[in-house]
Amino acid sequence: MANLLESYAQIVGNEVIDHLRQLAEPLKGMKVVHVNSTREGGGVAEILNWLVPLKKELGLNAEWEVITGEKEFYQCTKSFHNALQGDSVEIPPALLRIYEKTNEENAERMRGQLEDADFVFIHDPQPAPLLKLCPDRKGKWIWRCHIDLSRPYRAVWKYLRDFVVGYDASVWSLADFAQPLPHPLYLIAPSIDPLSQKNRELFPGEVNAVFDRWGLDPDKPLITQVSRFDRFKDPVGVIHAYRQVKEFTSVQLVLAGGGATDDPEGEEVLKEVRNAAGDDPDIHILLLPSDAHREINALQRASTICLQKSTKEGFGLTVTEAMWKGKPVIGGDTGGIRLQVINHHTGFLVNTPEGAALRVRYLLKKRDKLEEMGRKAKDLVLNNFLVTRHLREYLTLMFAIMY
Ligand code: UDP
Repeated sequence: MANLLESYAQIVGNEVIDHLRQLAEPLKGMKVVHVNSTREGGGVAEILNWLVPLKKELGLNAEWEVITGEKEFYQCTKSFHNALQGDSVEIPPALLRIYEKTNEENAERMRGQLEDADFVFIHDPQPAPLLKLCPDRKGKWIWRCHIDLSRPYRAVWKYLRDFVVGYDASVWSLADFAQPLPHPLYLIAPSIDPLSQKNRELFPGEVNAVFDRWGLDPDKPLITQVSRFDRFKDPVGVIHAYRQVKEFTSVQLVLAGGGATDDPEGEEVLKEVRNAAGDDPDIHILLLPSDAHREINALQRASTICLQKSTKEGFGLTVTEAMWKGKPVIGGDTGGIRLQVINHHTGFLVNTPEGAALRVRYLLKKRDKLEEMGRKAKDLVLNNFLVTRHLREYLTLMFAIMY
């Protein structure tokens, strides 16, 4: 554990690590609690998995708590998610009541720990009411919003806003996502951990093994989208794009995903995806367990091109992951994908399956371009989207609002 931070020095340099230690100095011993709604699946869990241990290694007393509830709670919060990203969704009052009640129950369990903390980071809307339920809080509370709130369905945002106005600050992935709130708003882009099972270098044999394991053809270009089965990720659009490519050239598609424990819509979307795929032997729908990080790593590395054809996307860690592996990404022209896919440089931004197909065909034909874009993609991640930059911004934020 003592060498965890040092191991990043090989990638980002010693100065970066020394700087982190300096920034952490005034925060040493402080108690920081992060709360979200799932320990596995989805980008937030992915981030907390490295953020909490690294804060601990820097001498902070960091903890990670997960809010839990029954099926209806997750139905409600999934509806929030869809509504905040723009869908017109009416949420029945009974479900809202369950949302509030679940938060009350979780507050009973965590109140002492949260009220006592120097900093509490509440991630996304699921645990947002906890602030009001901890009246004797002593520390600073920050609402960390990971989703795109640029055009929320008003009625739902009005309801949720009431829970978040009281926070001391909020953090957003992009300026476009933010809503006006009466406290300081900070912008912090997410990041990936280059040393995690998901992103570390693999042995060549491990990468090649995915072809055998999943019945893929090692001689055919492979296009891949890794994502939860969620309509905003547009897996069906990916299948349409693949079909259009296949009319001209030989290609195979992997759609790899699993469920997140806080996402109840996955099965329904998976059915739609299976219908769209039909019996095409070159479409591989892989259902992976939530801890299949090395497998996803190998699949991304084995891919010729990665896709993330989302129609809405908070940030899109899968984009960062693929780019770190030197893959150009063809991504939906939305949200955080725009921060990462620099059109024509690190990949292509697209709005339709036709657009995606066109770009896939171009890159499959121009292999030198594909490699050049892959190199630029990796560099962009190295300079902007690794844990060390993310951690530095978190430490600076904590220092800024400490007093
Ligand atoms: N992921 C995973 N297994 C899956 C699907 C996704 O481990 O079956 C991971 C993926 O590698 C990425 C994260 O979950 O690290 C998804 O984050 P992203 O920001 O792309 O989307 P979100 O799911 O948070 O909307």
